[in-house]
Amino acid sequence: MSSSEFGRESSSDHPLVMSPEEFRRAGYRAVDLICELLDGLAERPVTPGESPQQIREVIGDEGMPQRGCSGEQIIDDATALLFDHSTYNGHPRFWGYITSSAAPIGALADMVAAAVNANVGAWNLSPMASEIERLTLRWIADLIRLPSQYGGLLVSGGNAANFVGFLAARRAKLGEEVRRNGLQGRRLRLYTSQETHTWVEKACDLFGLGSEAICWIDCDKKYQMSLPTLRAAVEADLDSGYEPFLVVATAGSVASGAVDPLAGIADLCDEYRLWCHVDGAYGACAAALPELATTFGPLGRADSIALDPHKWLYVPIEAGCVLLREPQRLVDTFSYHPSYYHFNDDGDDVINFHEYGMQNSRGFRALKVWAALRQAGRDGYIASIRDDIALSRYLYELAGRHRELEASTQGLSVTTFRYRPVDSEVHEEWLNCLNTKLVEELQAEGRFYLSNAVLDGRFLLRACFVNFRSTRADVEALLDEVVSKGRRLHRKLSDEQE
Ligand SMILES: *Cc1c(COP(=O)(O)O)cnc(C)c1O
Repeated sequence: MSSSEFGRESSSDHPLVMSPEEFRRAGYRAVDLICELLDGLAERPVTPGESPQQIREVIGDEGMPQRGCSGEQIIDDATALLFDHSTYNGHPRFWGYITSSAAPIGALADMVAAAVNANVGAWNLSPMASEIERLTLRWIADLIRLPSQYGGLLVSGGNAANFVGFLAARRAKLGEEVRRNGLQGRRLRLYTSQETHTWVEKACDLFGLGSEAICWIDCDKKYQMSLPTLRAAVEADLDSGYEPFLVVATAGSVASGAVDPLAGIADLCDEYRLWCHVDGAYGACAAALPELATTFGPLGRADSIALDPHKWLYVPIEAGCVLLREPQRLVDTFSYHPSYYHFNDDGDDVINFHEYGMQNSRGFRALKVWAALRQAGRDGYIASIRDDIALSRYLYELAGRHRELEASTQGLSVTTFRYRPVDSEVHEEWLNCLNTKLVEELQAEGRFYLSNAVLDGRFLLRACFVNFRSTRADVEALLDEVVSKGRRLHRKLSDEQE
């Protein structure tokens, strides 16, 4: 590289500059290898089944390279390292946690987005990208049948989306004051069910309330928040001098896919003037289905809603989304106007997204969401989400019919069940141990991937279908595998005990 005292004279031989030929070679190579990967996903193991030690040996322990190397070499190395040593949530038999298959168009969109490298923090830095994000948010709101005034922003995922809703609620309760003087010892309380995701504890901890500010509301038999208990808790807190400010409803719980009674919760929030936040990180996209209108219709009464395009919109990670009925409240919560930002857009009706959330510089994650929404369209999403739910019901039904399986719960696209030997007296502890080993073995062997749920003290196998590559045959194969594994483990454990 030609450098002198006064800096570089030319950038053409800079190590990070790629000639069109080099970019093309490396790029075509990457695309060819990705095509092979995606085409052969079903034949690969879901998990590599290697220990951390083995993985570290593959990548090696060399220090930072002194000199660079070619783009093509890097693509070859990166694909070789990743493709044979990854866990594939895009595999048709991956149903763990809530991790979807990613739409391939998202990979291409991410490449285009990175090439433009728009900084979607400010409109002037990302004119078209900002407008694509704005449009994408409108499409998402429209897909889940929200009234048109809802708006917000894309964030990294469900945790971040919920944090944004939480902070808007805190600001709404305490006013502008909280931004200067903090909580000042006020005894805020929020209400949520025991089935809520852990983000709520993180939020209370991080944002100064402490996790003791959470009033945990019991669930009914269907793992939905109990409304009478919620009302009693709010009233008891008011009597004891607490300041209730927020109810967090879950629309699609992690363990069982349960949806809290949204209408009842919205009514109660109206009555006590509490912020109504719905955590729909997983489930809110199912509001697209007309047949679920009774369950999800009241979504449009929430003050804020979190949902994850990287879950049920099948967008590559990371893509979360938060929508508020009054988007201006985000500006009230997050906006600052530092002197070094002079965007000269006063009076223009533009969104500077840095004023709407926690990030300053922001990536163009909207492009992959926009691309997937365009590719499948509303009809494509409705059909796919409906199929995911149907596969979950199919699994529940097959498990219910099998003598050695116990179907436990089915909600949205989550099914829980367990193996239970018929021919012997077994107690709960035995079943928990047996099913724990069963999940561990399944995950390690890499033919299927399930995770688990613990409901009422029972350790259950749990499958969550957010996977457009899965079919009925995959579900049938899972049950064969679970039953044969269950039998073998039961014998093995019995032998060990003798
Ligand atoms: C997945 C999930 C979260 C967390 O979302 P991330 O995208 O993992 O940050 C929060 N709440 C619910 C209900 C979820 O399903």
